[in-house]
This record gives sequence, structure tokens and C-alpha cells, in this order.
Amino acid sequence: MSATRLALRGDLLDFTGTPALAQTGLEGVRYRADHWLLIDERGRIAGAQPAEQVPDAGWQRIDHRGRLILPGFIDTHVHSPQLEVIASYGTELLDWLDTYTFPAERAFADPALARAGSARFLDALLAHGTTAAVVFPTVHKTSADALFEAASARGMRVIAGKCLMDRHAPDGLRDDVDGAERDCRELIERWHGRGRNAYALTVRFAPTSTPAQLAMAGRLAAADPTLYLQTHVAENRAEVRWVAELFPAARSYLDVYARAGLLHRRSVFAHGIWLDEADRAALHEAGAQIAFCPSSNLFLGSGLFDWHEAAEAGVRVSVATDVGGGTSLSMLRTLADGYKVQALAGRKLSAWAALHGATLAAAQALELDDEIGSLEAGRLADVCVWDWAVGPVAARRMDVARGLHERVFAWMLLSDERNLVETYVAGTRRFERG
Ligand SMILES: [Zn+2]
Repeated sequence: MSATRLALRGDLLDFTGTPALAQTGLEGVRYRADHWLLIDERGRIAGAQPAEQVPDAGWQRIDHRGRLILPGFIDTHVHSPQLEVIASYGTELLDWLDTYTFPAERAFADPALARAGSARFLDALLAHGTTAAVVFPTVHKTSADALFEAASARGMRVIAGKCLMDRHAPDGLRDDVDGAERDCRELIERWHGRGRNAYALTVRFAPTSTPAQLAMAGRLAAADPTLYLQTHVAENRAEVRWVAELFPAARSYLDVYARAGLLHRRSVFAHGIWLDEADRAALHEAGAQIAFCPSSNLFLGSGLFDWHEAAEAGVRVSVATDVGGGTSLSMLRTLADGYKVQALAGRKLSAWAALHGATLAAAQALELDDEIGSLEAGRLADVCVWDWAVGPVAARRMDVARGLHERVFAWMLLSDERNLVETYVAGTRRFERG
């Protein structure tokens, strides 16, 4: 926690409502040009005031005037061991797992490598403006311990759990039902609700768990409704066909999880590209969320998620990088890809809806909006300071932008981690541009 009281001066942007997907007007958008953001000694946001009301000497003042200050981004689906396979050539999902991902994940059986990898991963998130994440480590208990330890050392909000996979995975990457249950129970006991850590029952995806293992996860979920669930669903067409063969009794891929008791309001399903109307209705009814991963979906050729269709069905949607399937940890680059994916379907995605999806909407879907996702007083001060422009092209674009949405949209499309100046986690600076 920060020992001193901090005041950050800049242009404050966050959300107080839910902008419609194509909305460029300001309903639900809170933009406070040239304000002080006040952060108390507990690392919580105390409030905000116009630049001319200068905080007194009891506050350490940091002047970022002419810069943008946003809540830290929330990446709702990302894999900590996969930094090493980011940008690997030439495969779709199932080959990609066998060729690149599974071999890389084996390394995390080694506690020292898992610790180093987790530290590198979380520092990289902070250096991209992401302060909270829902993370897949590997099947190894030690990989989850290492991740939670590294998150605790940085004060970050992390939701994670050891991967469950007891079939269709190579040697060194499989568990079994009893061993996995023991590991889960130990990890839940050790980490769930400790500091800012929360445990997610982590099913890799339906093909790599036996029905008995899914049932075990369902029993743990039923025993503690505060546990999260994270998994993949309906990412790729070959995967969907395989699931239909493996689980002939299920109505759909999503239904495999529903039947196991894994579809609930704390479930985070990555992708959800190949769902039907009944699936969307089930997601809505359960209050579960889809983590939209546009960079990954484009890179692996998985398909085009239709955010509008999901929104019309009342499904909660957040945004995620899915690194290493995604090619950047930058949520800004990911949102730019998200815009383009919607454009291919003839849809619009405003900067407001996109940035809301990466902040407040994710926090709400995770039931953490009293802690993260906005600059509201009382929230923990997970905040990032950004340059409006890096380089002459972006600078010129900012100069000629008319109106706030045009400016923020161009910023979102033209920016990445090079724009990031500082990252604060609970009021403590955890990244500073060198
Ligand atoms: Zn993934």
C-alpha cells in the first residue's frame, strides 16, 4: 500500500454507465479534462477535483497535465506460460496447442522456472497498462502458487487456478481426478480471498477433461459459489466438432459445461464464437461472461465473434488478449482488433463501448466493480497514465480531431504500450517508462 497521499493531474476518463456498442455520445462516459485524481494513504481513490483546486502539501502532486488517466485495464483471458510462444507461425487452435503451447507449458513444472515466468508475465502486464487479469497458468500446482505469489508481491488483482486436464494432453501435462481435486482444494485454501487473489476452477477446455473431472470441478463450484470458473468455449470449428464427438449427450459445447455445473455468474468463457441462440440465452440467464479475444481469433483464424449478437441476447462481454494466441498484451491493440472484427460483420464498435469492455464491464462481470474498473471514490487506485500521442502521425491526428469521441477513438486505434507513462496498483507505482 502507498504510504503517502498522491494527487495525479491529467485528463480523467472512466465510465459511470454502459455505453451502447455504437454509441459516440457521452451517456455513461465521464471525462474530466485536467483534473487532480486523489489517492489516499490506503491506495484508494479519494476523489477528483479541477486543476485549479490544487491539493495542499499533504498530497504528493504528480503533474501529468496533457496526458490521459484511465483505470487499469482488466484482461479477462490470458495465459501466463505462453509469452514464449507468442507470434508462432502457421497453425490453427488444435495444432497450435500440440506444436507450440503444450511443450512450452511443461517448463512450469519446475518451481524456479514457474516463479521467473510468472514475474516476467505480471511485469509485462503492468508495462502494457493491465492491472488485473484472469489467468491460465499450467496443469502444475506449482505454476498457480508461483503466479499467486508474484501477484501478491505486486498487489495485483489476479484470478487464476491450476489447469485441469486429465486426457488428450501429452506426458507431463496431465493430472488425474483425485490428484487434481487435492491440488484444487489446497490452492483454494491457500489463495482464494487472500489479499487480492481469487481462485478460478480452470478447465483447459472440454476435450482435455474427462466427464469425471468436469463433475469434480462442478462439485467444488457448488460447494463454494465465490469461486470463479474459467475455460474456453466454441473457439474453433474443428474443436467444436471434436467436442460434439466426445460429449454426444450434450446439446452444445456450452452445454457440456452447463451439465457439469460450471455455467454460473462467475464463469468466464473465452471466445464463444460458434455459439447459437440457445447458448446465448443460457449465458444470459446464468450471468456468465464471454471474454472476446479478437487478436487471438484473427491470428489463429478461429472466427469472428459477433459482439452485437451477444449484447442483444444480454450476454456480458469483456475483452481479453489471449496471449499467446493473441499477438500482444496491449489491450489497446486488442480493442483496435476488436473494432476491425466488428467492422467485418458490418457492425460498429465505439471507443466508449470498447474501453468500457476493458474496464468497468469486466469489473462488473467479475463482480469486482466495488474494487476495480473505474475512478470512482473508494475503488483501489489501479490507474494508468497514458500519452495522447507518440510520434508525428498520432500527434497530427490528435491535433485535428474534432470532439471527444473522435479523439479517444483515434487514440485507441493508434496507441499501444509505448504510450504508457506510469502504472499504479493500489496507489503504488509499479511501472514507469524508462
Ligand atoms: Zn486461451
